[in-house]
Amino acid sequence: AFLADVVPMAPEDPLFGLMAAYRKDKSEKKVDLGIGAYRDNDAKPWVLPVVKKADDILHNDPEINHEYLPIAGLQAFTSASQKLVLGPDSPAIKENRVCSLQTISGTGAVHLGALFLRKFYNKQNNPTVYFSSPTWANHNQIFTNVNLPIKSYPYFSPTTKGLNFEGMIDAIESAPERSIILLHACAHNPTGVDPTQDQWKEIASMIHSKNHFPFFDCAYQGFASGDLSKDAWAIRYFVEQGFELCIAQSYAKNFGLYGERAGCFHFVTSPAHDASHTAERIRSQLAILQRSEISNPPAYGARIAATVLNDDELFAEWEDNLRTMSGRIMDMRKALREKLEEMGTPGTWNHITDQIGMFSFTGLSEKQVLRIREESHVYMTKNGRISMAGLNTHNVDYFAKAVDKVVR
Ligand code: PLP
Repeated sequence: AFLADVVPMAPEDPLFGLMAAYRKDKSEKKVDLGIGAYRDNDAKPWVLPVVKKADDILHNDPEINHEYLPIAGLQAFTSASQKLVLGPDSPAIKENRVCSLQTISGTGAVHLGALFLRKFYNKQNNPTVYFSSPTWANHNQIFTNVNLPIKSYPYFSPTTKGLNFEGMIDAIESAPERSIILLHACAHNPTGVDPTQDQWKEIASMIHSKNHFPFFDCAYQGFASGDLSKDAWAIRYFVEQGFELCIAQSYAKNFGLYGERAGCFHFVTSPAHDASHTAERIRSQLAILQRSEISNPPAYGARIAATVLNDDELFAEWEDNLRTMSGRIMDMRKALREKLEEMGTPGTWNHITDQIGMFSFTGLSEKQVLRIREESHVYMTKNGRISMAGLNTHNVDYFAKAVDKVVR
């Protein structure tokens, strides 16, 4: 028998299937609210002006060549990434408790972390990874691929369209000691629902008392609120509490570097250890995993980010660009909620503005989602998630009316 004869057909990736359906749709009114990528007010991809500047600088730099980067990536990028996520004055950085490797964007960082945990974490007990329900669909695949068992903790409450905090805390409490708890640092995908700072404190305390291992996925720093420190608050709080933890950091959304695959994986050791030696051992093992997976990471996106992150003036301009993106999204949240409330669309719509980041969980059912696609040519995922960035001043009223029609 041939191997080719026993490989079954895999289901299509739902998001990419949705994109294909959108492209085929010939209606002039069609609206794409599927993919999580920023669009400007004309529904066009946006090259950040500061990225364009960094691009020009690199283009004119005679020192740039196409040699391999080191296994751990571009040092100017990984060290700036540590400061960005942990804060420039983080004791963890000063005490040499952070090991960082450049990765294939956020996905690669999650994968490297998953591999590392599979190989070294609490092996005798075959620990389970707990995800929020729902979570970014790829989490399930990435951790399953490295043979870590997965389970979920309650997160989204369909009644309030906000956080099911009690359910979340109870599940973290009931999980076997030393489980792995995956947390979205900010702008939770797909719900747009984040814990408050007080809730984060309780989550941290429960994770601590159960000796769990926190794994932060940070794909939207600065993109959520427009404020880099605010969006990193939860991570910095956990580090302050002395946790050993890891972080997957993506530059796809906050730099608009989607296709360049710039990201970073950080392992932060607890201050309770002889820090520098621990970090050294961990770094050596991560380097071996990285070598066998990708040898060394791609250079271009990391160079762009490093150019901006290491220059005060460009950094300030980047913050400005972040406020442009997050501000436009917040404006669209306001406009959508206002229009729905103005029309008296049945239901409550405060969740649209309470939620944050790229996505909103509208509360629309699968049936309603399919009807909107059929009748109004609006494309969103079946769980009722919309990419806020797909809305703009030209289509937000049209979308609100389409929602109104299927909800009534
Ligand atoms: N994690 C979450 C929660 C995400 O939403 C995303 C992107 O959608 C990623 C990670 C990683 O994306 P990328 O690999 O493009 O950085």
